[in-house]
Amino acid sequence: MPHLEPEQIAAFLERTLSAPAHAQVEGHLVECRDCRTEMLEVEHIIRTVPGARRWAAVPLLAAAAAAVVLVVALPGRRAADSPHREPAVQSSLAPTTVAPNGSVPRLERLTWTGVMGADRYRVALFDTAGQVLWETTVSDTTASVPATVSASLDASGSYFWSVRARVGWDRWTESGLTEFRVAEPGAMR
Ligand SMILES: [Zn+2]
Repeated sequence: MPHLEPEQIAAFLERTLSAPAHAQVEGHLVECRDCRTEMLEVEHIIRTVPGARRWAAVPLLAAAAAAVVLVVALPGRRAADSPHREPAVQSSLAPTTVAPNGSVPRLERLTWTGVMGADRYRVALFDTAGQVLWETTVSDTTASVPATVSASLDASGSYFWSVRARVGWDRWTESGLTEFRVAEPGAMR
């Protein structure tokens, strides 16, 4: 299934899709972090941009209810946040991945830039299918990767990682995905 269109996500949040289409979109959201991030933006647009109401076939309270349901379905998914948040704040506060990036000898730790006011960071490793291979939450801007995780990587494979910063109660900003490859996945064993 290709990535979701904003209109599909909006229809999902507003529960205007047919049951099979709703299930299909939900299945994609569970698997695809990119589209979950997109969903946060669509939610924000629906709530804050008057012109976006063209999507709204039902009251916005229904969208909030759908988001609450997704909190249960998606671990780590935040609840609907403050309607007063400005988009510029979100983008300016996103953390940036530092290492690994590109080809590295081995994977020992993940490092990123800190975000002012962030009290914790959640990092995740993905395979090319978008499956989460490992995830952890730390207060530092670096995280050690367990040797068992490093050793499980394939020397010929591409992997991705991203970091999210918690910048308020139940408010997170996320870096882009960074691709990397490891020359000696099992070196730490
Ligand atoms: Zn997607």
